[in-house]
Amino acid sequence: MDYKLLINGALVDGHGTMPVLNPATEEVLTQCPTASEAQLDEAVDAAQAAFALWKNTSIEERRQKLGEIADAMDANQDELARILTEEQGKPLADAVGEIAGAALFFRYFQSLDLPVEILEDSDTQRVEIHRNPLGVIGAIIPWNFPMILLAFKLPAALLAGNSIIIKPAPTTPLSALHLGRLIANILPAGVVNILADNNDLGGKITAHPGISKISFTGSTGTGAKVMESAASTLKRITLELGGNDAGIVMEDVNVDDVAPKIFDGAFGNNGQICIAMKRVYAHESIYDDLVAQLAKLADAAIVGNGLEQGTQLGPLQNKMQFEKVKDYIEDGRANGTIVAGGDVPEGKGYFIPPTIVRDIDDSSRLVSEEQFGPVLPIIKYSDVDDVIERANNSEYGLGGSVWSSDLDKAYDVAKKVDSGTIWVNKHADLQPHVPFGGIKTSGIGTELGAEGLHEFTQRKVINIAKA
Ligand code: NAD
Repeated sequence: MDYKLLINGALVDGHGTMPVLNPATEEVLTQCPTASEAQLDEAVDAAQAAFALWKNTSIEERRQKLGEIADAMDANQDELARILTEEQGKPLADAVGEIAGAALFFRYFQSLDLPVEILEDSDTQRVEIHRNPLGVIGAIIPWNFPMILLAFKLPAALLAGNSIIIKPAPTTPLSALHLGRLIANILPAGVVNILADNNDLGGKITAHPGISKISFTGSTGTGAKVMESAASTLKRITLELGGNDAGIVMEDVNVDDVAPKIFDGAFGNNGQICIAMKRVYAHESIYDDLVAQLAKLADAAIVGNGLEQGTQLGPLQNKMQFEKVKDYIEDGRANGTIVAGGDVPEGKGYFIPPTIVRDIDDSSRLVSEEQFGPVLPIIKYSDVDDVIERANNSEYGLGGSVWSSDLDKAYDVAKKVDSGTIWVNKHADLQPHVPFGGIKTSGIGTELGAEGLHEFTQRKVINIAKA
């Protein structure tokens, strides 16, 4: 496959190239084009010129284009999914689900509207609220969900009338570049530009005076840099950052019923989900039983190349993350007891078996930091107020969950957990119409839902005297 950047409607070579690896084999998939700063300038100029026209199109026309992009994703689902599995590592069935899900996100935004709101229409005045586009959006994306996270940003930005520069992560640029090829002819030149980089363009995007807003998903550390850099030009920012979601499992659960759901909430995408369950607090009365069941599920999980049928968990996405997670396993070994997994196989590929750690407490790094991988600490608790305090004792506040067969009790706990989202008897359930965002160092602002769409607009008030 020949990958190109998308700049001003044209598929072009980069000024450089970089190897993109298959994390299951460590083989080079391709030499991917990388954009220079001059190409970023070119893309921003094109996006600004396109914005002048695109912002004046009707919302019906923009909706139509979102539908066409979703159709293109559906029609090329197999091809996109294979690219995604090869570059990201996830099992093919999950990659197909991600492409299908991304197309659904486009269709959801296609259904939204941005009507003029009449705040007052009295004898003395008429006050209207308009939601206008911002200009050129810089969308920066991480490597765990290259397509879904692109679909958090692109359809909302376009529907609102903005143009956009998309920058995928350096280790997973191929699915985004291929999508660029598929949609290049759907949109007017310059409305969407897609630039790959070798981790050297993000800062230039966030500082670029021609870009009005940054929509960033990634780590908290990089998010802080984005905020600092965007300040120089007073850009709008939406930051979706790291998390350390706690799952609180109460004494009255049916362990057989919840264990597989908790396993999926923690190990989906190999734990490489911002809203994966990253620490489980289990009541002492069900602790041993839950640990045993999670260990059984971990032992039974099939880890392998995502292209092989039957694979449940692929490799970690990149070497840096692989090393990081191995380090967290050692922290678990030193401060707790590993009851499943823990032994990293020799050989090619960034494979780590799902690992369960028990008898560990909040002071360990595995519990207090974001591991972002398939190693799950299970911590014992006895008192509900105490466990809420411990769950809240984190710099993060992205998601979380409460598990109980008594919904009133669970609801009471849910209200007291400090996070942008808290689920009851499920975890990591993102839906396009439900607003999503973190508190504390997990982020600023909202994506998805009508509220997420509004973040790609600027409010304008028209206030007319009548008398
Ligand atoms: P990362 O912060 O290292 O990289 C994210 C993106 O930022 C990449 O495209 C990278 O090239 C770019 N980047 C690097 N330096 C930059 C700079 N100075 N300015 C602007 N952009 C720059 O994150 P990652 O390791 O790719 O992703 C994992 C992290 O993302 C985890 O912490 C995870 O929790 C978080 N995440 C959050 C969400 C969410 O919605 N809250 C979703 C997925 C992942």
